[in-house]
Amino acid sequence: MAAIIIVGAGLAAAKAAEALRDLGHDGPITLIGAESHLPYERPPLSKDYLQGKADRDSVFTFDADWYADHDVTVRAGVRATALDLEARTVGLDTGESVPYDDLLLATGSRARPLADADGVHYLRTLDDSDALRAVFDKGGRLGVVGGGWIGLEAAASARGAGLEVTVVEPGEQPLLRALGPELGKVFADLHRAHGVDLRTGVGVRSVERGGRGLVLDDGTTVETDAVLVGIGAIPNTELAEAAGLAMAEGGVAVDAGLRTSDPHVYAVGDIAAAENPTVGGRVRVEHWANALNQPRVAAANLLGGSEVYDRLPYFYTDQYQLGMEYLGLSTGYDEVVIRGDLAALEFVAFWLADGRVLAGMNVNVWDVGDDVRALITSRRVVDVARLADPGVPLSEV
Ligand code: ADP
Repeated sequence: MAAIIIVGAGLAAAKAAEALRDLGHDGPITLIGAESHLPYERPPLSKDYLQGKADRDSVFTFDADWYADHDVTVRAGVRATALDLEARTVGLDTGESVPYDDLLLATGSRARPLADADGVHYLRTLDDSDALRAVFDKGGRLGVVGGGWIGLEAAASARGAGLEVTVVEPGEQPLLRALGPELGKVFADLHRAHGVDLRTGVGVRSVERGGRGLVLDDGTTVETDAVLVGIGAIPNTELAEAAGLAMAEGGVAVDAGLRTSDPHVYAVGDIAAAENPTVGGRVRVEHWANALNQPRVAAANLLGGSEVYDRLPYFYTDQYQLGMEYLGLSTGYDEVVIRGDLAALEFVAFWLADGRVLAGMNVNVWDVGDDVRALITSRRVVDVARLADPGVPLSEV
């Protein structure tokens, strides 16, 4: 009866515990989680839950009974502080040292802090989302630092709650890193059309005490009642690094089976820099879908299997009337092809390199995931005119 410890108690940890039990593991399973909550899903925290449209119970991966019924121990509010790969123990902030046979690292990431900013909000945890909802309830002016996914989803939710919103993004467009300038502009236009004062190409010099204002690099001051900072995430890799595990891409290096450089240790989710045979290289992405789907592969391999995680990166967003899904990785693209109506927000965008599709994003167009995936994985040079022509079925491009 091998004892399995899962460090982290987010979605990935819960899904790993579920998969381990599904696959027949009957030894002890313990989750160690610094937050005082049971594992929950993060996407609603900037969307439905933040908007008050999803109730609190719905964000939790499983209810408390599930853990009892499956004999899974959750040590909530406990932090793992050290890892001894030789002795196979995890040190906890309670002073305990807990032995394991196999270990799964699912420590996720934390919000990147803005230097010297006091009294600002972040949006990473359930508690963060609750605190921001309280700001929405008060109304007034919200300043958002960073025009990435968190900043924009929160801006859309805040507009829905009737707040005045200013977003400050140093890039020329929001979402530049994820989408490039062509599609970043679509989101910029969307937010401006919904009354967001979006300032691009300008950074934030300082935040007034208590989030009462933003001083921008160009000297302008924006008066605010509260400030949300969404400037990216930092993977929680300190434990792994200190233990001497091999690192890559800012995360923990794992093979296609999600095993680290130590045969008894696996890693999943935001921290996992995984060989991905479909992408054809090592990727580390901070996406919900990885946290959802990687654990099953890691669990199978922890139990002696030889499975491979080969899904394409996938994520989605909902902002105002725009819903979209994104599949693939556009890094290194040299061409963007639009199929459909950009202005009407009903299209599929493709990122290509040397005529091959790297990534696709369907905006208010649904049920095209399989076709988009097939285009990416075939690595075929496509006919761009046919790709752009909605009259040609995607499956026949
Ligand atoms: P998140 O998940 O927090 O939204 P992203 O990587 O999607 O993370 O987006 C972060 C955004 O924050 C990027 O658009 C980036 O240009 C912006 N950004 C990074 N550093 C700063 C900063 N110091 N001030 C304002 N914006 C920043």
